Amino acid sequence: MERSHVVSLIREKWLSLFSGHCFTGSPELVASLFLSSGWWRDHLCLSWDFHTKEGPDQILAFLSDRKRLSARKLRNFQIDRLSALGPPKCSRSPDDPEEIIVEASVIFDITKPAARGRGYVRLKKDARDVWKAFTFYTVLVDLVGHEERTGCLHGLNDIPTNSRSTDPSVLIVGGGQTGLILAARMKALRLNVLIVERNEVVGDNWRKRYESLKLHTTATYASFPYQRFPEDAPTFLPKAQVADFLESYSVEQDLPVWTSSEFLPGATYDSSKKLWSVTISKKGKLINLRPKHLVLAIGPAAVPFVPDFEGVDNFSGTTYHSSMHKNPGNWCGKNAVVVGASVSGHDIALSLQQAGANVLMVQRSPMCVLRLSTVKEQFFDRVWPPDRPVTDSDFLYASTPLKVLMHIAATQYTPFLARYDKDMLEGLARAGFLVGWGEEGGLGPIGQTGLILTKFGHFYRDVGNAQMIIDGKVKIKAGVVIDEFESEGVRFSDGTFAQADVVVFATGYHSMRTIARQLLGDEIVDQTSEIWNLDAEGELRGVYRPTGHPGLWYASGAFDHVRYLGRLLALQLLAMEIGIYDE
Ligand SMILES: Cc1cc2nc3c(=O)[nH]c(=O)nc-3n(C[C@H](O)[C@H](O)[C@H](O)COP(=O)(O)OP(=O)(O)OC[C@H]3O[C@@H](n4cnc5c(N)ncnc54)[C@H](O)[C@@H]3O)c2cc1C
Repeated sequence: MERSHVVSLIREKWLSLFSGHCFTGSPELVASLFLSSGWWRDHLCLSWDFHTKEGPDQILAFLSDRKRLSARKLRNFQIDRLSALGPPKCSRSPDDPEEIIVEASVIFDITKPAARGRGYVRLKKDARDVWKAFTFYTVLVDLVGHEERTGCLHGLNDIPTNSRSTDPSVLIVGGGQTGLILAARMKALRLNVLIVERNEVVGDNWRKRYESLKLHTTATYASFPYQRFPEDAPTFLPKAQVADFLESYSVEQDLPVWTSSEFLPGATYDSSKKLWSVTISKKGKLINLRPKHLVLAIGPAAVPFVPDFEGVDNFSGTTYHSSMHKNPGNWCGKNAVVVGASVSGHDIALSLQQAGANVLMVQRSPMCVLRLSTVKEQFFDRVWPPDRPVTDSDFLYASTPLKVLMHIAATQYTPFLARYDKDMLEGLARAGFLVGWGEEGGLGPIGQTGLILTKFGHFYRDVGNAQMIIDGKVKIKAGVVIDEFESEGVRFSDGTFAQADVVVFATGYHSMRTIARQLLGDEIVDQTSEIWNLDAEGELRGVYRPTGHPGLWYASGAFDHVRYLGRLLALQLLAMEIGIYDE
């Protein structure tokens, strides 16, 4: 199809109708522009939450509820001519090569509150040859008069770094990438924010991780808003460089961070005043703060999880959690058992093997493994190509409803990637490693794309350990658990025994909600949503959106989550600050 034809098709057959029906506030007519299998994903344009609606009936009910279509009055939909995503285009549907999809990036205005939005539409023909929306994504860009202030952020905050003259409006607990990026987003919207971080120096959260750690994600994907990595940054940043960048980011962006400052258990919320009362131990001195909003950005790895094992006290060797893995050279010539086959398990097994230890990995259940080079070429470089602004890549990735993404992952993407790495996967299977694709969730083989959304992990991007397993240099004990420790080693559930001088538990971390219980108590946390995995609509649960408890927010995930959704959390808090938040 000619480009001019695609443009006029989208404009005349859909966008102008859609824009008109939105403006006149006709939910039925708007809903009729979606396929029976069509989706509308909305981030903050129609409500102060994230929603995905499937099919005209759900869309109609959502638009009619609280008369939201006429209340918000979306209008002026136009093709976005300046978008780095390029002009409207057409392609063949991956589900059915006979089917054509036309797609376009659009911009629009919102009347109440006065705001600007951005959208992405994909159209297909219905059974009667009428072009209708298969997916439509809308997201709030900025509130008119309160636009994000970018560039130099110095002096925009009235909380001096070293003192407490005013209570912050927003208190962020945790100064990892999530807390820092969120604070930068909030400063850019002139919100009064403070971060408390228990480490002595910003970046220590990465510095304290095992020596061999490099990001298993590309530097473009891991970009921070407002500040670039150095030009010569490698594609996969070593942890020291991530740590140093976090530190420099907090300085360059002039973020108010109290280091050596621990948020203590026992915070209370006064619902009449809508204020928290929290205690911070700052360099040992107790300070009370009364913020309006409390954002927990304490990380998915705040407190190590180690299962209870019988007989561990009788073990004559050493045990430690993966978060304490240092000096693998100490175990040269010794027997090391690594429990767990996710990223940390593989990285630590590899580092021990390279240091001369005899390594046995214990794998309880199937694990999704792909080569890092495959994931880089077929995922990161396609979704976040180095030559496109990351903001646009994030937006385009968000434009596919997550349930649709899961379906694509299970039916096309995972099988495609599995074919790519067939030789490695067959070698792993021959060595006894259990390869899986995340099927246990009942959504099909969702692979790494889906597992990051459902479990935030449970996969490995291979940087060398797979070959060690295939070559028998790292041994595998799969489909078993440790039944008990004995003096000289561990006994497995199948009755076999392995000698061990050291056992490393790469068994993950307590969930953020469990830590939230320790900090805030059951009564508060029981009111909040679960964190992570998808809700019934297909939105991520609990993070960067209302939790169910006023003034309490959870922020978690990897770089793209905070970079993209963190801006939306900042907008929600801004709406509250300026008094336009209406639900
Ligand atoms: C070994 C490992 C490798 C990973 N590799 C990658 C990767 O390659 N790519 C990727 O995208 N993601 C990766 N991740 C996942 C994720 O990006 C990281 O976990 C990242 O550190 C999350 O950032 P965060 O800011 O949310 O949490 P964290 O980095 O954990 O930061 C939370 C901060 O909160 C502070 N804190 C906690 N409790 C308190 C308290 N009570 N008071 C004050 N401060 C507190 C902590 O000291 C910490 O600094 C990895 C995770 C791990 C564990």
